[in-house]
Amino acid sequence: MKEISLYIHIPFCKNKCMYCDFPSFSGKDNLKQRYVDALCKEIELKASKYKIKTIFIGGGTPTYLSIQELNNLFASINKLAFAEDLEFTVECNPGTLSEEKLLLMKTAGVNRLSIGLQATQNTLLKTIGRIHNFKEFEENFLLARKVGFKNINVDLMFALPDQSVQDWEETLNKVTELNPEHISAYSLIIEEGTPFCKLYNEDKLNLPSEDEERLMYSKTIEFLKFKNYNQYEISNFAKEGKQCRHNIVYWRLEEYLGCGSSAAGYIDGIRYKNKEIIEEYIESIERNVEALEEKVENSLEDTMEEFIFMGLRMIEGINEEKFFDKFKVKIDDVYLDVINKHINEGLLIRKDNTLALTPKGIEFSNYVMSDFILTCE
Ligand code: SF4
Repeated sequence: MKEISLYIHIPFCKNKCMYCDFPSFSGKDNLKQRYVDALCKEIELKASKYKIKTIFIGGGTPTYLSIQELNNLFASINKLAFAEDLEFTVECNPGTLSEEKLLLMKTAGVNRLSIGLQATQNTLLKTIGRIHNFKEFEENFLLARKVGFKNINVDLMFALPDQSVQDWEETLNKVTELNPEHISAYSLIIEEGTPFCKLYNEDKLNLPSEDEERLMYSKTIEFLKFKNYNQYEISNFAKEGKQCRHNIVYWRLEEYLGCGSSAAGYIDGIRYKNKEIIEEYIESIERNVEALEEKVENSLEDTMEEFIFMGLRMIEGINEEKFFDKFKVKIDDVYLDVINKHINEGLLIRKDNTLALTPKGIEFSNYVMSDFILTCE
């Protein structure tokens, strides 16, 4: 049986955060039960012919599902064949967690939680539209520990409106005091169509300057290193052996299935994406039709670009032998000029058959990666 990863999407949130352009919706609670039924059907149909090595239930807010809905979902998942060292993550948001839900997840085999916090200052949490305060997060975190979760990620965000460098330092300090195994720290991006985008266009967002944002990022790397978190990807930091294996599958361009509305998958060189509109997704599955929105076979150039973009996100970089194994051509035969240019600029480093971004290269990663584009529209 082929081993594969599985992503499961839950598109419901209690409220929409101000910055969020993820495919998640509030005010659609009446669809939850029907959605979970359709999702279970898709999971059993798609995933039962594989051995599952990692599962990631993301969203949206998976823990916004009721106990009964979570129970049904886990019952379907537990019919699948698992690899022995299965990593099973569920994304959680404070304000939707309870001891009962945590116990249910633990019993169902979930062995990793990813909790969305973003910042520790209640004023900032309110500004970005989160439904919880820091105390609720702290209580949920400690409850998860009490229930027995030994592998927890905390999601953080910097460069928020009205956030100072000191605020960010305080966030890093307070979160590391709780000693989670993994921390994700992304900078805020103003996405089209979000309430923040509207405020930004009206010049009503007091965002940190570019210099302050850069300082926040460099402080993150420095401080988390000091606290024994190893940076293994541009925005991800983990204690020894606690890297997120599911995300590494994406970054290494390995295969995964996606189930649920808007979920994407990559298998046998084909990328697919399910319908984003929840109602359309449910109706397709109920009619026994695939809920696909798009299905594309990647060209060789597309796959090479993706391999480089995703691989360079990882601090260990790209293994040149793996590039050759996958594409039957040496990386230098395709990219020698680009590689040399960025090595000379001090943005790339080549060592032991790997190609990686330097610390300066991480700062200018978009610039470096844009040079690896092979295809022009
Ligand atoms: S909880 Fe997450 S998915 Fe839901 S609106 Fe906020 S950021 Fe988006």
